[in-house]
Amino acid sequence: MTITEAKARLPLPELARRLGLPGPIPDRDGKAFTCWWPDRHNNGDRHPSMSFCYQLTGYKCHACGMKGDGITLLQHSLGLSQQEATTRFVTMAGGQPLSPPDTAPREKKKKLHLPTDLRRGNVDDWQAVADIRHLDVIAVDLAVEMGVLRFGTVHGFPCWIVIDESRRVAEARRMDGQPFPQTDRLPQRKAHTLYGSDKSWPVGLRPLHTKPHLFKKIMLVEGGPDLLAAYHFLCVTQAMDALPVAMLGRECHHIHPEALRFFSGRNVRIYPHADTDGGGIEAAKRWAGEIEAAGARSITAFNFSGLTREDGHPVTDLNDCTLIKNTHKNEMKNLVI
Ligand SMILES: [Zn+2]
Repeated sequence: MTITEAKARLPLPELARRLGLPGPIPDRDGKAFTCWWPDRHNNGDRHPSMSFCYQLTGYKCHACGMKGDGITLLQHSLGLSQQEATTRFVTMAGGQPLSPPDTAPREKKKKLHLPTDLRRGNVDDWQAVADIRHLDVIAVDLAVEMGVLRFGTVHGFPCWIVIDESRRVAEARRMDGQPFPQTDRLPQRKAHTLYGSDKSWPVGLRPLHTKPHLFKKIMLVEGGPDLLAAYHFLCVTQAMDALPVAMLGRECHHIHPEALRFFSGRNVRIYPHADTDGGGIEAAKRWAGEIEAAGARSITAFNFSGLTREDGHPVTDLNDCTLIKNTHKNEMKNLVI
């Protein structure tokens, strides 16, 4: 059975019902219904904005821009790869599963385990994150709009979560600022990396944005708090042509090859943590080497050493810079490339 035949035999309304997606779901093209991904909408808007097209083989939401066919719907609903979703779709349509196109070992990809209540959050959530990380709430709002900040329950704790549209990696921190307690398998930790994460993916690189190619600059930071701090300084400096991305941990030695392609032709600034053991700088050097080989237009690094916070502590990362001493504020003008 070809994919075209499968699409004709398994129209989208039937597929959606078999997947248990919320209804009512119309049985004709062009009739608007509630989008299946309201968390991608402003304030979770649930007005009918989705409709079917191409004789019930395509869907499109004019609010969030999600569009596709039965195969992409399976990918999004069940978290399958394109190949897995294609096989599943043909099988569901009553056809024989297609044989794998090659025998090459496929990339082992674990499914990212996301909280079932993953959401955009509300003004109170955004203000709470702004307070705990001392950020402008406008920056937190921007991060939510760009799809890199979400909220949800992880290990029973209300959390803020950094993530992007690639769904390759996500990291949660507790809203109360406390660490996650030790478990049988995991030590006590400030941040919990969600199961199935691939830390070689710089989180933020696939924002919820229709034209990501317009970002000519990339701010590469380390860790979730610095990702939000980068958004803070974007707002402060009005440098809206820069895209903040974060490697989630200095122990991640390589950047994902697919991610590296995105650095080609761009101006990149790295913000290495000024750790006392120099580990942050070492990690930044490795990443810079890979980014240079990938064809970045320029690579610079921002040096935090010598900067002091208002409370007298040295600045060691970008998030610290939001507490910088007034006399050092001038340095922040050149923070973004
Ligand atoms: Zn939508």
